[in-house]
Amino acid sequence: MTKVIDWLNHNRKLLFSLEITPPDRGKSMDDIVSSIEPLMHFGPQFINVTYHQPHMVYEEKDGIITRRPRRKKPGTVGICSAIKNRFKVEPVPHLICGSFNRYETEDTLIDLHFLGIKNIMALRGDPAPGQARYIPEKDGHQYAHQLVEQIAQLNRGKYIDELEDPFPTSFCIGVAGYPEKHFESPNLDKDLQYLKNKVDAGAEYIITQMFYEFRLYKEFVEKARAIGIQVPIIPGLKPLVNRKQIQSIPSSFHVNIPVDLVAAIEEARTREQAFANGIRYMARLVEELIAFGAPGIHVFTMGQGQAAKSLLEAVFTGKR
Ligand code: FAD
Repeated sequence: MTKVIDWLNHNRKLLFSLEITPPDRGKSMDDIVSSIEPLMHFGPQFINVTYHQPHMVYEEKDGIITRRPRRKKPGTVGICSAIKNRFKVEPVPHLICGSFNRYETEDTLIDLHFLGIKNIMALRGDPAPGQARYIPEKDGHQYAHQLVEQIAQLNRGKYIDELEDPFPTSFCIGVAGYPEKHFESPNLDKDLQYLKNKVDAGAEYIITQMFYEFRLYKEFVEKARAIGIQVPIIPGLKPLVNRKQIQSIPSSFHVNIPVDLVAAIEEARTREQAFANGIRYMARLVEELIAFGAPGIHVFTMGQGQAAKSLLEAVFTGKR
């Protein structure tokens, strides 16, 4: 089954997906292949590929300053196509609002449609590198729900311009949810209302931001259901396995690390022990999520193939 929502609706097995990030400009596709190859025997049904805003470079020539966008991690669409061909796994490209106007978004959607891609994760995107806040392109989208709306319109054959006999696309749309609220949101209730806007606009499932306490997922799902969000909510998980991540994860992703996980990492005598403690903690979290009825797990690999592999071994083979 090629669409995430069809898989979720017609399969009794838990969904398992991976998320990867394109390599830096100038690196080869082999970096990606070697990072996901060891994870393939766990049988991911979908592989998400992130998309990143360019940063702006200002160049002066003959007294004229030109602004040029430079994308550090290009290649999302190409990687998706390569994954489909090489691993026979359905790719899920991320599509962001940032750095696209609506016409460029439409062109990208047409490319993805022609490539036979059936799933899209629709996001506003992080602010561009070096910018404190998100700034939309002229004639681009301010919020992810507008991008969802544009994709849903294209699925109905409605393009920006009136066209004669336009073909409809057929994308399954996923969106992001934040159990600890999005960092710009005033509170979780407001954030959930905005999440509902994305679902009402056509999103068929939600993948959450990483979190480290079962309670956060449970409360998030309960609150979402209470306001009428009925789509599957897949927990996003990023293994935390070393001391550095105790600082870097909260500052990059605006999430809390619970006391017992911090202790499990800090009290370890060696790096290996810290790694093993982190994996054990995450595997227990997965057990709780599955017992609660989570539809599956989505693992952020973010260049950390070994941690993802160890977590998957712990989850799928009980090896801890
Ligand atoms: P939105 O849903 O648009 O929300 C952004 C903010 O606006 C929130 O604070 C929300 O509460 C608020 N908001 C929404 N609607 C309104 C409204 N009508 N009025 C006022 N406020 C409103 N980033 C990338 O750059 N590339 C990626 O590939 C990527 N992948 C991700 C994958 C997952 C699973 C997750 C959880 C995040 C990912 N991100 C990625 C990060 C994400 O893009 C950022 O968190 C971004 O800041 C918000 O994106 P969003 O789609 O949730 O935005």
